[in-house]
Amino acid sequence: MGIAAAREGLLERLYWLIKLRWLAVLGAFCTVLFVNHGLKFKLPIFPLYATIALLFMGNVAFFFRLIRLKNKSALSMNRIANVQIAFDLLVLAVLIHFSGGIENPFIFYFIFHMIIASTLLSRKASFLQATLAAVFFFAMVNLEYLGILPHYCLKGFMIDCQRHNPIYLGGVSFVLVSTLYIAVYFATSIANRLKQREMALNISNEQLREKDNVKSEYVLRVSHDIKEDLAAIQGCLEPVARGITGELNPKQLDLIQRATRRTGSLLFFIKALLEITRMKLSREVKMDYFSFSETLSEAVAQIASKALDKNISLNLYLEPGINRIRGSKEYIQETLVNLLANSVKYTPRNGRIDLKGSDKGNRILIDISDNGIGIPKGELPKIFEEFYRASNAKEVERDGTGLGLSIAKRIVEIHNGKIWVDSQEGKGSVFHIELPK
Ligand code: ADP
Repeated sequence: MGIAAAREGLLERLYWLIKLRWLAVLGAFCTVLFVNHGLKFKLPIFPLYATIALLFMGNVAFFFRLIRLKNKSALSMNRIANVQIAFDLLVLAVLIHFSGGIENPFIFYFIFHMIIASTLLSRKASFLQATLAAVFFFAMVNLEYLGILPHYCLKGFMIDCQRHNPIYLGGVSFVLVSTLYIAVYFATSIANRLKQREMALNISNEQLREKDNVKSEYVLRVSHDIKEDLAAIQGCLEPVARGITGELNPKQLDLIQRATRRTGSLLFFIKALLEITRMKLSREVKMDYFSFSETLSEAVAQIASKALDKNISLNLYLEPGINRIRGSKEYIQETLVNLLANSVKYTPRNGRIDLKGSDKGNRILIDISDNGIGIPKGELPKIFEEFYRASNAKEVERDGTGLGLSIAKRIVEIHNGKIWVDSQEGKGSVFHIELPK
């Protein structure tokens, strides 16, 4: 788990590096433009733009290399990070060579590369990158000093050309190179400490998950046993309540009916608890393509009689593009039934429920709105928590598990979707579900 998370982190940072490079391309282009046209320095414009173009093309290549990378092992990603940073160092050295060499104050931009290397690579690899930067820098300074490469003086910025001034060359080189190594030392120290903390956090997360699993398994076993016994009790009570075992006097009938009702709601609660616990433990669901509009209609049909009992109008609006989606039909239908049942439960007689399915390209959006009791503003954030029931709901409806919405949330999340609610107390609620097709 720790290794996988570290690999994910590295991949994320490689994408981040590519994003940074787009900014670097833009920044370099604007700087050259400004220095050349704004400050009117005479720089070799063609090689500078060509180098920036090379940086741009290199970044395109890195981007495609990364998205097509099949073997996303830490080793191959490290190699990519090393190559990219080395490439950046070379490009920076070339840009600096064409824009004043050692006189160019941008030489200190090598430090940014050292910080980036320290966050991506090991300490050893980062020091090696610092050495590579030093090699590129020394090569440039020496080749210019010896006249093998031309030196482009920054006239107007420096009073005199410094190419033949060994004290200046030596002094700046020493300061720059020592700064590079010191920067790597500090940055890797901080990065290593952070990596260690991240690893410790991953380990404790894993331990917590394991503990949670043990707890869930325990709940699963207990609730399973309770369910069996409750079902047996219900099986005994029902024939008595129906008078099959002989006539009951009114007092006996009332008590037996109450016991049957209570057993029924307890059984309902235990089944919900079992379901959410099973979901927590398995996390995987069998997915297939199915007709979403059909599923919606079936969910509406399941709830229609309850709505009719309270004279609530139930209206369905469907856009044609939401027919085929991939997921668990059973679970999605259960979620829709759950939300619709809540709307019926928390909407007074003669109310209205609208169910709308919209096509959002590769996703679908379902809105279930009612003009019921709504949810108090302060309680909205807790509504998807297990066992949570809003204060106004408890007044209206004594029976309730507080598990329906948390089950719905889990189901939606297993499908990589989102569920949220807008509500105003006393006015009504709108539950939204967004699912990928
Ligand atoms: P319950 O068994 O209490 O309905 P749920 O998990 O399904 O449990 O819902 C949690 C709480 O969310 C409910 O107790 C209620 O406070 C609130 N709620 C859910 N749906 C609605 C709705 N349509 N209108 C108002 N409140 C709602």
